[in-house]
Amino acid sequence: MKLMKCTRCNMPTSYEGLSLDALGVCEICRASEEKMKIDWKKKRGQLEKIFDKYRSKTNYDCIVPVSGGKDSAYQMHMLKKEFNMNPLAVTFSHNLFSQEGRENLHMMLEQLDIDHIEYTPKRSLVDRMMKNSLSLIGDSCWHCHAGVGAFPLQMAIKLNIKLLVWGESVAEWGKCATYSNPIDYDEDYFRKVSTKQGPEKMIAAGGIEENEMMFFYPPDAEEFGSSGLHGIFMGDYLFWDGEYFTEFLTKHYGWKERQLEGTYKRYKSAECIMTGVHDYSKYVKRGYGRGTDFATQDLRNGIISIDEFHELSSHYDSEEPIMMDYYTKKTGIEKKEFYNILIKQRETAAKELFDSKQRMIFSDPNKKRIVNDSTLSDEKYFEKLIKEKDNYFKG
Ligand SMILES: [Zn+2]
Repeated sequence: MKLMKCTRCNMPTSYEGLSLDALGVCEICRASEEKMKIDWKKKRGQLEKIFDKYRSKTNYDCIVPVSGGKDSAYQMHMLKKEFNMNPLAVTFSHNLFSQEGRENLHMMLEQLDIDHIEYTPKRSLVDRMMKNSLSLIGDSCWHCHAGVGAFPLQMAIKLNIKLLVWGESVAEWGKCATYSNPIDYDEDYFRKVSTKQGPEKMIAAGGIEENEMMFFYPPDAEEFGSSGLHGIFMGDYLFWDGEYFTEFLTKHYGWKERQLEGTYKRYKSAECIMTGVHDYSKYVKRGYGRGTDFATQDLRNGIISIDEFHELSSHYDSEEPIMMDYYTKKTGIEKKEFYNILIKQRETAAKELFDSKQRMIFSDPNKKRIVNDSTLSDEKYFEKLIKEKDNYFKG
């Protein structure tokens, strides 16, 4: 199938599950139009009613999965300060925390005074899962996708907590949902959207024992059904704006941003050191990375021009991340093999974007890395990244 791009935001159809309507506009753009017309005050009232239903005198009112990222930090703030809820925060740790991510998470829990449970898979297990992950799903992060979904669900059911509060609406990035027709959060959703390949596949890929995978299994349909657990996305009830959340958290809580690989914004997945490798894998497989993700959003919102869009996506997407070195050493997958594995999984529509030497046809051959942190020179930025990587090797 030929590659097409949304006529409004330029998102390519190599984006998983993306379809364009008769005017060539994608569902992410349509959802963003919808978002502007929603009566958010009314939605907030609906959320308040849901919360009222789940307030408990004997248990936590809800579980909130927290990653150390800005969305879950804002969720905790809203639950505690605006809705006067008594949440239990749960963290599936990918065991790849950036220093800022760790500090942000700790700071939010302390300042908001919230109880917290965390599960961290051991280093060797993470390394083995990162290795299998590349062939299994085409990026390095299966353990994170699976753990983030399964662990909070397991905890909610074990502790008999009836409400689980996720963050961003699924409609925000397409994925078969709109604001007027939001997705049902159930076992089916978890299997289809959250992890496409279950723990059985991870074990079958080799080097991993079943008894290491306890926290990666989502509850089955029966457990789900009998638990009475209800999952909601806060973003279906409150206007979601990552940029605003970051500003808010910085001002009120002393939130720390960090320089990220492969993009020009400094907040998305800043809690993880592997985000550059994750996004770069997507670029090799689908022909676009995190630079394009953000640029489509900014283009859609009218913040940047189409020329700026091209400049940003061609500059950031194709940058091989520094953390690739960490990934290859920890997994034993050589760089050449890394590319081979991903090129084999390349989306048909994305193939036309690369030449026979695997160079991106539209990328700028003379490009230099752009560092978007005005407080750091290019040199200092790379020094910082390399130091961070070395610290991980030591750990
Ligand atoms: Zn679009």
